[in-house]
Amino acid sequence: MINKELLEKLTKTLNEDRERIMDKLESLQDMDFGDAPGDDNEEADETEEAVNELVTAQILERRLMDIEDALKRIDGGTYGKCIRCGEDLSQEMLEASPESGLCKACKTG
Ligand SMILES: [Zn+2]
Repeated sequence: MINKELLEKLTKTLNEDRERIMDKLESLQDMDFGDAPGDDNEEADETEEAVNELVTAQILERRLMDIEDALKRIDGGTYGKCIRCGEDLSQEMLEASPESGLCKACKTG
Protein backbone atom coordinates (compact mmCIF):
# COMPACT_ATOMS: atom_id res chain seq x y z
CA MET A 1 0.00 0.00 0.00
CA ILE A 2 1.34 3.37 -0.99
CA ASN A 3 1.25 6.11 1.63
CA LYS A 4 -0.29 9.53 1.09
CA GLU A 5 2.95 11.41 1.43
CA LEU A 6 4.69 9.32 -1.24
CA LEU A 7 1.64 9.53 -3.50
CA GLU A 8 1.69 13.31 -3.29
CA LYS A 9 5.38 13.41 -4.04
CA LEU A 10 5.04 11.09 -7.04
CA THR A 11 1.99 12.96 -8.35
CA LYS A 12 4.06 16.13 -8.30
CA THR A 13 6.95 14.41 -10.08
CA LEU A 14 4.60 13.02 -12.73
CA ASN A 15 3.00 16.40 -13.36
CA GLU A 16 6.40 18.06 -13.63
CA ASP A 17 7.69 15.37 -16.01
CA ARG A 18 4.54 15.70 -18.07
CA GLU A 19 4.98 19.45 -18.48
CA ARG A 20 8.65 19.11 -19.27
CA ILE A 21 8.01 16.49 -21.93
CA MET A 22 5.20 18.50 -23.49
CA ASP A 23 7.49 21.54 -23.70
CA LYS A 24 10.21 19.46 -25.26
CA LEU A 25 7.82 17.92 -27.80
CA GLU A 26 6.57 21.35 -28.70
CA SER A 27 10.07 22.63 -29.35
CA LEU A 28 10.85 19.54 -31.45
CA GLN A 29 7.75 20.14 -33.55
CA ASP A 30 8.70 23.77 -34.06
CA MET A 31 11.95 22.80 -35.68
CA ASP A 32 12.06 22.96 -39.41
CA PHE A 33 14.25 20.55 -41.29
CA GLY A 34 15.17 20.22 -44.91
CA ASP A 35 14.03 23.58 -46.15
CA ALA A 36 17.25 25.50 -45.64
CA PRO A 37 19.31 25.86 -48.79
CA GLY A 38 22.75 24.29 -48.65
CA ASP A 39 25.06 21.80 -50.22
CA ASP A 40 24.55 18.02 -50.22
CA ASN A 41 26.56 17.48 -47.07
CA GLU A 42 24.45 19.84 -45.08
CA GLU A 43 21.29 18.22 -46.33
CA ALA A 44 22.55 14.80 -45.29
CA ASP A 45 23.35 16.15 -41.84
CA GLU A 46 19.95 17.69 -41.60
CA THR A 47 18.24 14.46 -42.57
CA GLU A 48 20.16 12.57 -39.94
CA GLU A 49 19.31 15.19 -37.38
CA ALA A 50 15.66 15.07 -38.35
CA VAL A 51 15.62 11.30 -37.88
CA ASN A 52 17.20 11.67 -34.45
CA GLU A 53 14.61 14.26 -33.49
CA LEU A 54 11.86 11.96 -34.67
CA VAL A 55 13.17 9.08 -32.59
CA THR A 56 13.48 11.37 -29.58
CA ALA A 57 9.94 12.59 -30.12
CA GLN A 58 8.61 9.03 -30.28
CA ILE A 59 10.35 8.09 -27.05
CA LEU A 60 9.00 11.19 -25.37
CA GLU A 61 5.48 10.56 -26.67
CA ARG A 62 5.51 7.04 -25.29
CA ARG A 63 6.77 8.28 -21.93
CA LEU A 64 4.07 10.96 -21.94
CA MET A 65 1.42 8.29 -22.49
CA ASP A 66 2.79 6.26 -19.59
CA ILE A 67 2.75 9.34 -17.38
CA GLU A 68 -0.82 10.17 -18.35
CA ASP A 69 -1.88 6.60 -17.63
CA ALA A 70 -0.21 6.82 -14.23
CA LEU A 71 -2.03 10.08 -13.48
CA LYS A 72 -5.31 8.41 -14.44
CA ARG A 73 -4.53 5.56 -12.05
CA ILE A 74 -3.90 8.10 -9.31
CA ASP A 75 -7.33 9.61 -9.98
CA GLY A 76 -8.91 6.20 -10.05
CA GLY A 77 -7.20 5.07 -6.86
CA THR A 78 -5.40 2.14 -8.46
CA TYR A 79 -1.98 3.74 -8.59
CA GLY A 80 0.87 1.76 -7.07
CA LYS A 81 -0.49 -1.60 -8.16
CA CYS A 82 0.62 -3.67 -11.11
CA ILE A 83 -1.82 -3.17 -13.99
CA ARG A 84 -1.47 -6.80 -14.97
CA CYS A 85 -1.44 -8.87 -11.78
CA GLY A 86 -2.55 -6.32 -9.17
CA GLU A 87 0.47 -6.78 -6.92
CA ASP A 88 1.67 -3.74 -5.02
CA LEU A 89 4.63 -2.13 -6.73
CA SER A 90 7.63 -1.51 -4.55
CA GLN A 91 8.26 1.98 -3.27
CA GLU A 92 11.78 1.84 -4.72
CA MET A 93 10.43 1.12 -8.16
CA LEU A 94 7.86 3.90 -8.00
CA GLU A 95 10.46 6.38 -6.87
CA ALA A 96 12.81 5.35 -9.68
CA SER A 97 10.10 5.62 -12.34
CA PRO A 98 6.77 6.95 -11.05
CA GLU A 99 5.03 6.17 -14.34
CA SER A 100 5.68 2.44 -14.15
CA GLY A 101 2.57 0.31 -14.15
CA LEU A 102 4.02 -3.19 -14.13
CA CYS A 103 5.71 -5.05 -11.31
CA LYS A 104 9.15 -6.50 -11.85
CA ALA A 105 7.81 -9.98 -12.58
CA CYS A 106 5.31 -8.80 -15.21
CA LYS A 107 7.82 -6.45 -16.79
CA THR A 108 10.37 -9.18 -17.33
CA GLY A 109 7.92 -12.02 -17.84
ZN1 LIG B 1 2.57 -7.82 -12.02
